[in-house]
Amino acid sequence: MGFNVAIDGPAGAGKSTIAKAVAAKLGFIYVDTGAMYRAIALYLLNHDIASDDEKAIEDSLDDINVEIAYVDGAQQVLLNGENVSKEIRREEVGNMASATSVYGFVRSKLLSLQRELARKSDVIMDGRDIGTCVLPDAQVKIYLTASVDCRANRRYKELVEKGETPVLEDIKKDISDRDYRDMHRDIAPLKQAEDAVCVDSSDMTIQEVVDTIVGLCEK
Ligand code: C5P
Repeated sequence: MGFNVAIDGPAGAGKSTIAKAVAAKLGFIYVDTGAMYRAIALYLLNHDIASDDEKAIEDSLDDINVEIAYVDGAQQVLLNGENVSKEIRREEVGNMASATSVYGFVRSKLLSLQRELARKSDVIMDGRDIGTCVLPDAQVKIYLTASVDCRANRRYKELVEKGETPVLEDIKKDISDRDYRDMHRDIAPLKQAEDAVCVDSSDMTIQEVVDTIVGLCEK
């Protein structure tokens, strides 16, 4: 097993920005597991399969191949050989990923891929169940969180910068709904692992959070 760092937390807490920066600093590989759930969600959306159609989702899994590749250190997600790294970032895909990640068969499809990546290399892996389920023996576990208002404001600014015209209240509702679903599902719900360090980034700069986590890894 490589040196494994697990970062879990709710949507919009800054996990991917922080994990990328920590990975660059430590020379680790960054693994974004949410992107894998998003790739499956994208397939389902493209095939008009509803998030509550459990049977159709289970049947379609054999037709879905998710692979991870790295280009200049950046993770790329391949869905049946096609690079979908940009497409999976849409809000609609994130919501579909949240709705379909509740199914055990979806989760177990991705589990072996995630564990294999962590076995081969030093990784910093982010998601919802990394410290609790995927890598229970990770050397460092972080639970990264921030208030709903703070996460919604950050997302709002990101979308405005992209030239979109978001509605702040809609973003808040999406985030709260996603938190609720992720925290209350039966299998591998989002929660802080007992041995994880909780970092609340609401009033911290990105650099402060990165320094805190790098410090924990070096210890
Ligand atoms: O992190 P991201 O927003 O890209 O994840 C999309 C969705 O995938 C989450 O809302 C969550 O439901 C699901 N997910 C998960 N377990 C993970 C990573 C993501 O259930 N390890």
